[in-house]
Amino acid sequence: MASHRLGHLFVVSGPSGVGKGTVIARILEQISGIEKSISVTTRKPRPGEINGKDYFFTSVEEFKEMVKQGQFMEWAEFTGNLYGTPVKWVKDRLSKSIDVILEIEIQGAKQIHSQYPEACLIFISPPSIDTLEKRLKNRATESAEKLALRLSKANQEMSEKHMFQYEVLNDNLDEAVKSLADIVYSKRQVDK
Ligand code: 5GP
Repeated sequence: MASHRLGHLFVVSGPSGVGKGTVIARILEQISGIEKSISVTTRKPRPGEINGKDYFFTSVEEFKEMVKQGQFMEWAEFTGNLYGTPVKWVKDRLSKSIDVILEIEIQGAKQIHSQYPEACLIFISPPSIDTLEKRLKNRATESAEKLALRLSKANQEMSEKHMFQYEVLNDNLDEAVKSLADIVYSKRQVDK
């Protein structure tokens, strides 16, 4: 009988605007057997974001109820909004040998690290804080006040990147995708 392995859990963090979503989207296109968890958030949807695809958008009351019911694998507050990873979906995928990517901020990554020491932690870093500021400004999804908050958070996150097992520089998108893909393949190689 073939041995049954659990899927691998990959945690991808990095400052807001670093391009985590773009790198991950390319990984999901290129590699089979890996899926991204859709988080629950109390943040308002940005134009173009779809409920159930980008996030499950919810109210603060409902979010807190979900926390009480133990529905999150981890959750955190980030620049005034709450974000959480649905535990049931992730465990279901892992039990079916499907690898899972969590795209979450650092406090959440810390929670996952202490509960699931086998999880693989990857930090995506920008070439510089200046580049990050430009990217966030170009994205123009935030008010000036929120943008400033995200930038100060970015500086804080950069100072904590040492807790991650891998650092992927997102200067050139193709290279960043390749580095992340190499990490996924090397984890899978260990199972063989
Ligand atoms: P954004 O508002 O830009 O979509 O996300 C803000 C930050 O929250 C990003 O760093 C994103 O990776 C993170 N985030 C998204 N979902 C979750 C989650 O479920 N848990 C945690 N801890 N962070 C999340």
